[in-house]
Amino acid sequence: MERFIYLDNAATTKTAPEVVEAMLPYFTENYGNPSSVYSFASKNKDVIAKQREIMANVLGAEANEIYFTAGGSEADNWALKATMEAYKNKGNHIITTKIEHHAVLHTAEYLERQGFEVTYLDVDENGIVKLDELKKAIRPTTVLISIMFANNEIGTIQPIKEIGSIAKENGILFHTDAVQAFGQVPINVDECHIDMLSASGHKLNGPKGIGFLYIRKGVKIRSFVHGGAQERKRRAGTENVPGIVGFGTAVKRAADTMKERTGKERKLRDYMIERISSEIPYAKLNGDVKKRLPNNVNFSFRFIEGESLLIMLDMKGICASSGSACTSGSLDPSHVLLAIGLPHEIAHGSVRMTLGEETTKDDIDYVVDNLKEIVNKLRSMSPLYEDFAKKHNK
Ligand SMILES: *Cc1c(COP(=O)(O)O)cnc(C)c1O
Repeated sequence: MERFIYLDNAATTKTAPEVVEAMLPYFTENYGNPSSVYSFASKNKDVIAKQREIMANVLGAEANEIYFTAGGSEADNWALKATMEAYKNKGNHIITTKIEHHAVLHTAEYLERQGFEVTYLDVDENGIVKLDELKKAIRPTTVLISIMFANNEIGTIQPIKEIGSIAKENGILFHTDAVQAFGQVPINVDECHIDMLSASGHKLNGPKGIGFLYIRKGVKIRSFVHGGAQERKRRAGTENVPGIVGFGTAVKRAADTMKERTGKERKLRDYMIERISSEIPYAKLNGDVKKRLPNNVNFSFRFIEGESLLIMLDMKGICASSGSACTSGSLDPSHVLLAIGLPHEIAHGSVRMTLGEETTKDDIDYVVDNLKEIVNKLRSMSPLYEDFAKKHNK
């Protein structure tokens, strides 16, 4: 029987049917531009306001601190570029980490080319930021700390509360890319002293091309897209009403189901990790065992090319990923796996499998059974493994 098993939910998720259903009328019936005067269109303003409230409630924020964007990448770009511009008089230094998503990393590199200074913090072997190194990196000119809530490749969750406290004590703004964490772990922006937070719709069963940046009241940040007065003059462009409605529906749904859904995923995740660890030799789990997203499994298999593994999994109807979607297709190993200290050849043999709300135990068994077989097959063709096996009398 043909099977299809989607284990790439960190790349994107299936848009939930009720999300699509909620969006449809905003294409075909209530298509008015919220900025128009007549009520047919202007009532969409209230619709947007309602979605903003949903986001704010989930984060413990206020509705007017939520600014819709065209996704997580835009929110990250905005947080970094516009903050550094707005606080030029205060300083020119940003602290971030070596394991950020490219939306943050490449923006930081862009800012370096503009004359700003960036510290890229190392992480430990599980991908966790070292707080003493963060403290040491702070300068009088540090304006912004940008550290992701949870990593998209290895699932590691950072000590966000502690990082936020350090930022606050030093009068530094704190931005976190929470695209992976939002909807998966509870987040409160006040408890964690978060000043800015990026989120995206399509990572939590919402639509693609919609996200938001939470900006704490009082933070001076320049508008990012210039034009009309939308998003309180900070982000121009006719609102993506269907996208915003879909995003709101998805966030409400994710918040309502969080406990049960993530509890189930965590169990399946641990079952999968346990089976792979005990049944496939020379397999190493990447990322922290405990401080980990409930749906993330990431393993390195020695003596194997991750790309070959992915292709063979694909032939069995299994969707998985090597590193992040952005690095797939290039021959460079993932910057995250290198940052946690994996040698190139081991980083190359890595696979990320991220569970979704529809994943079952039967799916996991099918995947692990096939993984075992494929790893064996690839190793039997590997000269590296042959040498290794000879040396160890296998
Ligand atoms: C997916 C992702 C992004 C980018 O979000 P888009 O909505 O796809 O632009 C940013 N950061 C992290 C951690 C992500 O996983």
